[in-house]
Amino acid sequence: MTGLDIQNLSFAYGDKVALKNVSFSIPRGTFTALLGPNGAGKSTLYALLTRLFVTQEGSISVSGHSLDHNPRKALGEIGVVFQQLTLDMDLTVNQNLRYFAALQGISGKAAHARIAQVLAQVNMSERANETVRKLNGGHRRRAEIARSLIHNPSVLLLDEPTVGLDPQTRASITDHVHDLAETHGITVLWATHLADEVRDTDHLIILNKGEIVDDGICGDIRKEHDLASYFIAQTSGAK
Ligand code: ADP
Ligand code: MG
Repeated sequence: MTGLDIQNLSFAYGDKVALKNVSFSIPRGTFTALLGPNGAGKSTLYALLTRLFVTQEGSISVSGHSLDHNPRKALGEIGVVFQQLTLDMDLTVNQNLRYFAALQGISGKAAHARIAQVLAQVNMSERANETVRKLNGGHRRRAEIARSLIHNPSVLLLDEPTVGLDPQTRASITDHVHDLAETHGITVLWATHLADEVRDTDHLIILNKGEIVDDGICGDIRKEHDLASYFIAQTSGAK
């Protein structure tokens, strides 16, 4: 079954084309890296996937539900982590999660159980009662991921989620989200411009100037080159 299916997607800001006929598909429970330099169109794609923007051309389906024809079902399957923190700094992790659970119509015992589950999924159970302001960058990011999982989505979208984190924290979050795909069967789309966040066994999509230039298993794509040099070669000329 397909986690995410995108067909012939195009989008322009006025006459500035940001995505050109983008098509790809992700099997359920796999980790896909969407690698592209700044300006490639990654965030535009996320805006379309989350219906912040309405699709101009092409189609998107999430776990079999068309975003156009059945937006409520499709969006219900999606959890999103943007670069910006959405948690309230002065509330505890638990209070924040209770608030987001309530927004999803989950309350009482069900919320309690669900919060315990998502905190365990991101290894944050022992931090439930700390205020977000007191957490370090990596733990805030994990709390943010827990927030995105509260309604039990089958697809997790992350837009450059490691920006601003130190290398060790970056590696730990990257490992953790790989684990969410492997262990919990969540379909992950991970946008980044950093080649070292991608593993050889990952599904890799390279986006450049709004077009897909590679789509396959990372190790098969990079062959004998290291991914960072391959990526630069594939996207050189990008501004
Ligand atoms: P990425 O997230 O990969 O850095 P974006 O999706 O943000 O790329 O941007 C893709 C292209 O669309 C870039 O050329 C960018 O300048 C342009 N763009 C993004 N947002 C807007 C906007 N609101 N108005 C006009 N052009 C935009
Ligand atoms: Mg972006």
